[in-house]
Amino acid sequence: GSLFQELAPAPDPPVYATTVAYNEDPSPDKLHLGIGVYRTEEGKCHTLNVVKRVERMLANDLSADKEYLPITGMPEFNKLSAELIFGSGSPAIKESRVATVQCVSGCGSLRLGAELLAKHYNQHVVYLPEPTYGNHPNLLSAAGLTLKTYRYYDPKTHGLDFQGFMEDLGSALTGAIVLFHASGHNPTGVDPTCEQWEQIRRSVRLRSLLPFFDCAYQGLVSGHLDADAQSIRMFVCDGGECLVAQSYSKNLGLYGERIGSLSIVCKTADVARRVESQLRLIIRPFYSNPPIHGAAIVTAILKDRGLYKEWTAELKAMSDRLVGVRRQLFDALCSRGTQGDWSHITKQVGMYTFTGLNEDQIDFLTKEHHIYMSYDGRINIGGLSSKAVPYLADAIHDAVS
Ligand code: PMP
Repeated sequence: GSLFQELAPAPDPPVYATTVAYNEDPSPDKLHLGIGVYRTEEGKCHTLNVVKRVERMLANDLSADKEYLPITGMPEFNKLSAELIFGSGSPAIKESRVATVQCVSGCGSLRLGAELLAKHYNQHVVYLPEPTYGNHPNLLSAAGLTLKTYRYYDPKTHGLDFQGFMEDLGSALTGAIVLFHASGHNPTGVDPTCEQWEQIRRSVRLRSLLPFFDCAYQGLVSGHLDADAQSIRMFVCDGGECLVAQSYSKNLGLYGERIGSLSIVCKTADVARRVESQLRLIIRPFYSNPPIHGAAIVTAILKDRGLYKEWTAELKAMSDRLVGVRRQLFDALCSRGTQGDWSHITKQVGMYTFTGLNEDQIDFLTKEHHIYMSYDGRINIGGLSSKAVPYLADAIHDAVS
């Protein structure tokens, strides 16, 4: 018999289980609105033109080799990534108070940040918004942090429970870590306003909480890279410390390249150097050093004015399409006279809309209409084509009647 004879089978994570069920469904009408991927009207994962162009350039660059990168990744990538998220004139960057390291996309950045905190920060409690990205609890608890939640979403208004949010920050353990979605909250599509962020910031600093930002949708929410990083920049402006996980999966469509970064903004340059040295110590026995290709693509785009401009134009178009599809879905439900108030569909932002559909209704959508989505009611607007909107609206109408 096998030495692993006693091993129990593990369940598929929910989003993957949805994908498996979708793939097995023979219906030509089927819709996959589960996993968060931005798709073309034809339903294929969208590759940006600027990325295709850069890949051709990289393929023709015969001087490039495959030498190992440093443990912390490609230095130019790290510098440009920090400038992208904090702004090129950021005082924290000028004062060399930021340690930025290349990571295995957003997930790798979150895990590395959590490992650093578990090893070297004296408070192991981390507060997560309720609800949050499904992998957050796994990533943070796997590193040894203790999970708690703060109130975030109000199902009655389909908006922010700001009062509950502030109360929970106010009673959080001193020094605790608090995870924030920088913009385009997953799964709800609900973000605080600038004024609310300012109140959040004050409360965080007052109680010496440690903010850990997850930024997976920069540029896709408002259509502008700077605006989508505004929450983070408010926390950097005050001179305090924070962690930031950056992902290029969505905003450059580099999902499978696994490229992102972790930045730790520190009080002084000396602390930042020590933090970076400890990050190296964590990375080395983990995967030794990161892969080249994704970092090379991102760096080429960030350092060239023309390519950068092309990227921002494509991002704006993607973000406009998300807003447009939201509007089409809302209008389609209104024109059918579908029961209920659906205005949250257009109020929510980013890749997702949190429909408020319950599990029975979602089961019905899947069984009767071949529509696959997660059981929390989240729809990936990025995976919805304009031509599928009427089909989805008919199905939702049917499900809630
Ligand atoms: N954070 C959030 C909020 C996300 O939605 C995602 C991806 N869905 C990630 C992090 C991680 O994605 P990746 O590892 O592909 O960058």
